[in-house]
Amino acid sequence: MTAGAVALGIALVAVLTSTGGTSAEAAPSCRGDRISVADLATGCAVSSGTVVLSDGRRFAVPAPGTTVSAMPVAAAGAADHGDVSITNTGRTGLAVRVDDVWKGAAAAVRQERNAVRGRLAVTPQAATTTTAAKPSSCTNKTYSRLGFRWSAPVTWSYNPAGQKVSGASSIRAGADAWTGAIASCGKKVTTTAGERLAGNTTQAIGVTSAGGCGKSSGASVVGWGSLPSGTLAVTCVWSRSGAAVEIDQRYTTGQQWNTATTCSGARFDLRGVATHEWGHAFGLGHTAQNSGLVMKPASTTCETGQRTLGLGDVVGIDAVY
Ligand SMILES: [Zn+2]
Repeated sequence: MTAGAVALGIALVAVLTSTGGTSAEAAPSCRGDRISVADLATGCAVSSGTVVLSDGRRFAVPAPGTTVSAMPVAAAGAADHGDVSITNTGRTGLAVRVDDVWKGAAAAVRQERNAVRGRLAVTPQAATTTTAAKPSSCTNKTYSRLGFRWSAPVTWSYNPAGQKVSGASSIRAGADAWTGAIASCGKKVTTTAGERLAGNTTQAIGVTSAGGCGKSSGASVVGWGSLPSGTLAVTCVWSRSGAAVEIDQRYTTGQQWNTATTCSGARFDLRGVATHEWGHAFGLGHTAQNSGLVMKPASTTCETGQRTLGLGDVVGIDAVY
């Protein structure tokens, strides 16, 4: 799809929304707080309510023209439920993507899959390795892109309510691993990715305890709360036609965390996990677990090496910014 076609689609949705009109086609409508993916496959028009995935994650239906994405990081050995994106196309219904599997309304899936392909100038690198030898993070140059990016620095606030550790500076260091001048694995790049911590807030986080995403608040908030067992953190991103507009992050209160320079015991390294989550926030997806990269799906305790970008991480952020 061309950029012009995307812009036209948005304008059309805006007109339909602002006049309170609905689709001319008499598509069945889905309502309520338990809309299943099977319901969405009917092509129903959805303007509110909650989509429930088979794994139990729940997502408030995003506004027309908006995509909400949830990117978890798992404790090594725990179930990985995968990255989820739900796009409300407006007229053609909702498209649901779990990793690389698309479901939902067929017309919406076609529309959104083509839009994502169009936004990604290059095909995402295959997140697989073919050699038996264990790859090191400085030789593996794979990455994947989620299909959105920020056009300005991310302004976010920290909600310390319930925090397991005083974590703002570790989480911010994780964000800054991706911004400005980066030197890692002998490679130097300068990215336009940026972030600004506006301060503390009492605003709620748009990540739910089931690991899904609630309603967009318009404000990017990072903080703490319960998450499914085995999930360390989840990032939700709201975007419109590939332009990110809000990110929220929740770190689990169900584990012990390290914020010291050196880490010991059964603790997860907050800065390392935050580096991974901010990779998602800036638009990067997962690589293979054995890639050794920051963007592999699962973390072990005290994995301080995850604070430092690997080769694929550097190449990936440079490709997006
Ligand atoms: Zn992840």
